[in-house]
Amino acid sequence: MKDTESIYVTRSSMPSLEEYVEEIRDIFDSHKLTNMGPKHRELQKQLEGYLNVPHAELLVNGHMALEMTLQAFDLKGEVITTPFTFASTTHAIVRNGLTPVFCDIDPKDHTLDVTKIEALINDRTCAILPVHVYGNMCNVYEIERIAGKHGLRVIYDAAHAFGETLDGKGAGSFGDASIFSFHATKVFNTIEGGCVTSSDESLMKRLYELKNFGIKNAETVTAVGANAKMNEFAAAMGICNLRHVDGDIEKRSLVSGRYLERLDGAKGLQLPISQSGVKSNHSYFPVTVDPEEAGCTRDDIFDALAASDIHARKYFYPLTNAFDCFRGQYDPNDTPVAKRVSEQVITLPIYPDLPLNEVDRICDVILKTMSAGR
Ligand SMILES: *Cc1c(COP(=O)(O)O)cnc(C)c1O
Repeated sequence: MKDTESIYVTRSSMPSLEEYVEEIRDIFDSHKLTNMGPKHRELQKQLEGYLNVPHAELLVNGHMALEMTLQAFDLKGEVITTPFTFASTTHAIVRNGLTPVFCDIDPKDHTLDVTKIEALINDRTCAILPVHVYGNMCNVYEIERIAGKHGLRVIYDAAHAFGETLDGKGAGSFGDASIFSFHATKVFNTIEGGCVTSSDESLMKRLYELKNFGIKNAETVTAVGANAKMNEFAAAMGICNLRHVDGDIEKRSLVSGRYLERLDGAKGLQLPISQSGVKSNHSYFPVTVDPEEAGCTRDDIFDALAASDIHARKYFYPLTNAFDCFRGQYDPNDTPVAKRVSEQVITLPIYPDLPLNEVDRICDVILKTMSAGR
């Protein structure tokens, strides 16, 4: 028998079985399983409060939230975005018949480098789709200025930013719309799920119809929608998890604090920054490894952790503009900072119940790998 458990990069938050069973009892009474039932409406209300946004529309997952928001704005042409993200961001653009134009990232917070956006704007540009990477908020004020000047839509991929605030405002209150993911691996989950937040009521109305095949009423279908509704069991999971999310974020901050304490000062490691005015959700703990300084590479650390049954992830490697499915269309060398970071970054395990002595064990493996290479 092993004396330690396998550790993965994350572990899904769940309520107790009793709490969930209590929450789904109504569903067994009502037989309302989906189609914007009472649990859906209740979670929607609660999330609008929690996220501090005027409106939130719930969807089956974060990806469909993004895809349908792009559809709802009826965009045509080019969308300026980041290649340093999950597949979903770029795929949502391409699946809408739009062309992604990749902008490089800031080396410190890994969000769009706002000084490089304007050079990419031309008369085909219709929108900017930035990502709040690892929960680091984008420079929303500068993006707003640029978008305003050029008449562009701004849709934020806020999949990593659940529960965060910037200057006291909810992370989902910037731009024309923001999308959140409630996937099992995220800070807050509905098993699978997501939402769109916006102050634009007509957008919300379109999304409500689009997620249900574009059906306006029994005899009127006004748009070529799809099926992206959140079901009642997922919404019930969300209602339960939302009760615990503040405590979860608090526990994540202890894990994050321990990593910072143990790894601070290690030469060649760039640790997460804290942004001024941002209340963080501690969703990820990314470390970039400069092989010249650290005495080892990102992959050395990844492999050493794996050998100790600790499974970190190389988020985000490869860049989306280097994906096989886009071969020959985009060149990752056009975004050199993103390319370097993708080759050097490793996201370490972080979840509310990760014991601090395990964090110590993870740090020991990292520091040992670094000193072995000197
Ligand atoms: C998780 C994630 C998504 C997609 O969300 P799903 O709910 O898994 O569909 C989109 N963008 C980013 C940056 C993500 O991390």
